[in-house]
Amino acid sequence: MTDPVKFKCASVVGVGLIGSSLARAMREAGLVDDIVGVDRDPDVIARAQKLSVIDRGETDLAKGVKGADLIILSTPVGAIGGVATELGDTADDGALIIDVGSVKGVAVEAASRMPERVCFVPCHPVAGTEQSGPEAGFASLFKDRWCILTPAPREDAAYKAAIDKAAALWSAVGAKVEIMTSEHHDLALAVTSHLPHLIAFTIVGAADDVESVAAGEIVKYSAGGFRDFTRIAASDPVMWRDVFLNNKEAVLEVLGRFSEELAVMQRAIRWDDGKTLEDAFSRVRGLRRAIVEAGQETAAPNFGRDEKAES
Ligand code: NAP
Repeated sequence: MTDPVKFKCASVVGVGLIGSSLARAMREAGLVDDIVGVDRDPDVIARAQKLSVIDRGETDLAKGVKGADLIILSTPVGAIGGVATELGDTADDGALIIDVGSVKGVAVEAASRMPERVCFVPCHPVAGTEQSGPEAGFASLFKDRWCILTPAPREDAAYKAAIDKAAALWSAVGAKVEIMTSEHHDLALAVTSHLPHLIAFTIVGAADDVESVAAGEIVKYSAGGFRDFTRIAASDPVMWRDVFLNNKEAVLEVLGRFSEELAVMQRAIRWDDGKTLEDAFSRVRGLRRAIVEAGQETAAPNFGRDEKAES
């Protein structure tokens, strides 16, 4: 049996949805004695403190990580490189640094540049909502969700121990841990998360353009399918800007494939090719069943929401 993971002081840099959820989950599981919130916005710190998510707060990074044996980078992806560079000089010796960013190439690059006296293990909890800020977080967010670790290419014993410690931390807050390369992660997530978000932003944007022609009707007649897209498209603009700018290659690759598939559908509709449409729709239904069987989603109609099912 391994020792239970425990930290004296955790600094959460970026006290938003994910940072505040991890702070809450760690506190609930008794994994940490003291939690410091570090955010550039003093109002966010005040709100997080009022919610008892953090014990104290700092707007200055160096002051906020002093004495921390765990540093959690939960800022948007675009800020991770700069914050990590600063931590290379300011973090305590032996500190474990993890991030939670949705793109991992940029985190591995930053982790590879760190001095050996600290260990940065890039992580991505595949769990979230379309909400932001400390009020949106909750302790059970990571329960039964995957957390993917993409370690830097470091072979020393301290780094190996840090990977084990990061994995133990995620397990202790209820997540299932998987280790892979950042390249594999960024391609897989481009398919399962980044492209669907791009499509949702585009569909809702296109509908908004039409809305000016048919005033009020899109809101009035919005069916379940469209409403699901609006939920995804309500996600934080800064977070998603950073995801696309930092996972350019993989997103452009899967977007190219998607465009080809869309052209096939367009052609089938134009030429009354019902067989191509039915075959394509039948093939993808199986994937929904597989996701439900893997416990990633409910089989209840309308995603189990307590409202009238609509097409
Ligand atoms: P969020 O609720 O917007 O929180 C991010 C916080 O970081 C904000 O308070 C922001 O302050 C602060 N911040 C930005 N730059 C900073 C800096 N340089 N130093 C200190 N604080 C800084 O975002 P989130 O949804 O928790 O996302 C955080 C990370 O988790 C992102 O990397 C995202 O890719 C990843 N992630 C998100 C989800 C999801 O579903 N949302 C799921 C998995 C992983 P300002 O508001 O002042 O900018």
